[in-house]
Amino acid sequence: MDEASVLWLTGLSGAGKSTIARHLRACLVGRGAAVAVLDGDEIRRGLSQGLGFSDVDRRENIRRIAEMARLLSTQGIVVIVAAIAPLSRHRGLARNIIGAPYREVYVKASLSDCERRDVKGLYARARRGEVVKFTGVTDTYEPPLNPDLLVDTSTHGVHVAVSSLMALLERCQAKQTVRQLA
Ligand code: ADP
Repeated sequence: MDEASVLWLTGLSGAGKSTIARHLRACLVGRGAAVAVLDGDEIRRGLSQGLGFSDVDRRENIRRIAEMARLLSTQGIVVIVAAIAPLSRHRGLARNIIGAPYREVYVKASLSDCERRDVKGLYARARRGEVVKFTGVTDTYEPPLNPDLLVDTSTHGVHVAVSSLMALLERCQAKQTVRQLA
């Protein structure tokens, strides 16, 4: 069976990764595709329960998500990962584990927009010093230098992001078809 694409949505907390993942899943399911969303918050409540936010733990969290994404992808399931993966070496690890189907999508929003949205109240808590090592406030986020796609949620709505992601998936599929025909 052909490997399906893995779209890794990286970006600050509150940038819109989970929201875009949900909308994209609905769109793909509507077209009859098999899709799985691996959401960082959900993974941390289950598969990665007990892991913290040290570099070692963040790396292990990414490794587990990437291994799961690879397993699903090899079974023909399109995988949408919504996980911060703050450092470029974390994303490099994911890329190495997943291989060719990996696509990096930078869900970009300014820190001030993310902080204004503060969906989970975490920025307020981080500013009060109640959350240690909070990405973008007290821990580093390295923006991807060469993502396969950048969606800017400070300037565009969710539907623009979904359309761009659908176009990216179509390009991946076209490439795969060309490989099969060669
Ligand atoms: P993340 O998964 O990156 O932490 P979430 O998807 O949980 O972010 O939260 C993003 C919040 O920002 C949601 O409340 C969403 O409705 C809002 N939002 C505003 N504009 C956009 C946009 N263009 N794309 C995605 N989310 C947006």
